[in-house]
Amino acid sequence: FMAKLGTGLSRSSSRLTTGLAVFGRRKLDDDTLEELEDLLISSDLGAKVAMRVAGNLAKERFDKEITEDEIRLALAEEITDVMRPREKVVDFSDGPRPRIVMFVGVNGSGKTTTIGKIASKLKEQGAKALLVAGDTFRAAAIEQLTVWGERADIPVMSKPIGSDAAGLVYEAIEKAKAEDLDLVLIDTAGRLQNKSELMSELEKIVRVTRKLDPDAPHDVILVLDATVGQNALSQVEAFRNTAGVTGLVMTKLDGTAKGGVLVAIAEAHDLPIHFIGIGEKAEDLRPFSAEAFSKALVG
Ligand code: GDP
Repeated sequence: FMAKLGTGLSRSSSRLTTGLAVFGRRKLDDDTLEELEDLLISSDLGAKVAMRVAGNLAKERFDKEITEDEIRLALAEEITDVMRPREKVVDFSDGPRPRIVMFVGVNGSGKTTTIGKIASKLKEQGAKALLVAGDTFRAAAIEQLTVWGERADIPVMSKPIGSDAAGLVYEAIEKAKAEDLDLVLIDTAGRLQNKSELMSELEKIVRVTRKLDPDAPHDVILVLDATVGQNALSQVEAFRNTAGVTGLVMTKLDGTAKGGVLVAIAEAHDLPIHFIGIGEKAEDLRPFSAEAFSKALVG
């Protein structure tokens, strides 16, 4: 499946909002319930949530008239209930020192950008951070992180392309300890061409951080691109198994994709959702809010 990761188009987009509009006012019979379930599943919300929404509506209103607005309201409530336990704003300037935060995810998901945004915020808060260009495979990734570092006036540690990422991470943590820094934010590779190589590299980085701090990495944040639709669910599974993901960020929610798959992820995985990305600039990062998310999704 890895070959397919990241290639999906914007699927959950506004399909749900326009799909709901079709319901207008009608009798809540088996056909209507089935149509609603199909719509929710095709919007990536997952079969469980779809069946629960339909089941709850049927319990209260079966064979009675229902309006599109009532369906929207019931759906928004259900989604908020699923997402609420996943709301967890994280304060990176708190906790162990140095706090070691690793960012994982497939290429193009928005890892480097998210690190840049978080670093800019931390700088404003006065935290002393070090950025590590751990995607040593792509010159563009190293350059991009360097630009973010320069912009936020935060040091970036990098090595020439092709260098051993785990070695770089080791040196970075040693430096952070020696200089008594608050945080180490580590970018990692996300190439899909070779899944086992990528995963063993991530495992190696995790092992190296543990050598210097048995509790590290303190955070492993999986960055997901909202526009890949259903593929995001398999990305969570793949990265959770190898890298021990502790939290999620979903990017590109500023476009047509509304991230319906995040509902299926929240249903299946007990993982906090820390932030959402809503653009390419430093300020385009928001703490995840269950209510705001479900409102945007349902329309
Ligand atoms: P990486 O390969 O995972 O490090 O991904 P990048 O950080 O390089 O991001 C890939 C592309 O997505 C870049 O062009 C970013 O500017 C863009 N991007 C990242 N986050 C967002 C977001 O929240 N919204 C939008 N519209 N673009 C984003």
